Amino acid sequence: MSILLGCIADDFTGATDLANNLVRNGMRVSQTIGIPQHNLNSELDAVVVALKSRNLEPEAAIAQSLEALEYLLAQGAQQIFFKYCSTFDSTPKGNIGPVTEALMRALGTDFTIATPAFPDNGRSVFKGYLFVGDQLLSESGMRDHPLTPMTDANLVRVMQAQCQHQVGLIEYQTVLAGADAISSRITHLKASNAKIAIVDAVTNDDLYRIAPALKDLPLITGGSGIAIGLPANFGLRAHPASSKLPPASGYQAIVSGSCSQATNLQVKSFKSSGGEMYAVNPLTLNEKSVEQILQEILTWAEPRLSRGPVLIYSSASPDQVKEVQSQLGVQAAGSAIENLLGLVAKGLVALGVRQLLVAGGETSGACVKALGIDQMQIGQQIDPGVPWCYAEVQNRPLHIALKSGNFGAADFFTNAFSKL
Ligand code: ADP
Repeated sequence: MSILLGCIADDFTGATDLANNLVRNGMRVSQTIGIPQHNLNSELDAVVVALKSRNLEPEAAIAQSLEALEYLLAQGAQQIFFKYCSTFDSTPKGNIGPVTEALMRALGTDFTIATPAFPDNGRSVFKGYLFVGDQLLSESGMRDHPLTPMTDANLVRVMQAQCQHQVGLIEYQTVLAGADAISSRITHLKASNAKIAIVDAVTNDDLYRIAPALKDLPLITGGSGIAIGLPANFGLRAHPASSKLPPASGYQAIVSGSCSQATNLQVKSFKSSGGEMYAVNPLTLNEKSVEQILQEILTWAEPRLSRGPVLIYSSASPDQVKEVQSQLGVQAAGSAIENLLGLVAKGLVALGVRQLLVAGGETSGACVKALGIDQMQIGQQIDPGVPWCYAEVQNRPLHIALKSGNFGAADFFTNAFSKL
């Protein structure tokens, strides 16, 4: 098996977002959790290696990314895509710049582009400035991000601060003029010694205009948006077969540890549809052992599974969350609940659940880990950014969808199963 596009993503849900965009444009894609220890055996066009490197020290992020690169090249990847957040989450130390330059060195290439633009999600780049919806990045909520505060919206400046190479710009006028004009601009930038270019894009059409000019670059970097035009460079077109997963079977369940607004609405909607649900009270973690709580949950679930999807949730309102955090501690509450819900997911699969929805980014990470999943094939999109995936857990099939907090419509918990 030989793949066309090899992708390295700096976080887990970003990897799924990218994989989803590639599938919707005609590629058969698998996402791996970390760097796999084995070669992939299914027929694939692209592999997305999900790292957790966004907030590591640059040296560690580089080391992981180079290891991922080596793996992807061994799978035959003809082009490499480095995916980061569409809000360019980084600090003056990195990691977008240092990882980009390390990948360029390893691939022996003297030019790449960088664009987080994804107009469908409200991320546009104009004259090198990144907008989040109607606001400049530096005036958006990102300016107060706890780990990667973004206080400058000028991406040429932001990228230059992280890079040794010179950073240039491919302006909107050039993008509008099409792929040939972009290619000429790339030749011009190279001649003036720029090795990385931020690219303007304010509509999806711009992304499709840019893509053909990237065909021969060994390395492309950006958000998930620019990926929508890449499958066509390999002669692929959107096709239902690319999202086809093996048929679904078994019981259905939902595990939710997300307390985001959208998830709380989804819990409410599931309740009003008459769904069976079990509320996990995190405060009982102070009174009982995890094994005891787990047993109670699984004993509740077992007789109900044959009647339709069950929901097990710790999702709660901001006030309830504060109460739990004040009693258990913020970090301790988070990781204890994640651990419990991971075990619940594993227990449910042991009871015959073969269709599993997980709500919450961190919760998803915990469930995937508990289930021992290291690879997922990406299927049909349920709601924007959230596809059904297929994995094998101890040689048994599992359809799994991982939803980060604010994704999904109110009826997500009921609607998702009907999409399988
Ligand atoms: P989201 O994607 O919505 O941010 P995450 O799963 O990433 O969801 O994060 C939610 C965090 O809140 C997790 O660490 C989870 O364990 C924790 N959590 C879940 N339920 C509660 C609760 N009732 N009280 C306090 N913390 C909770």
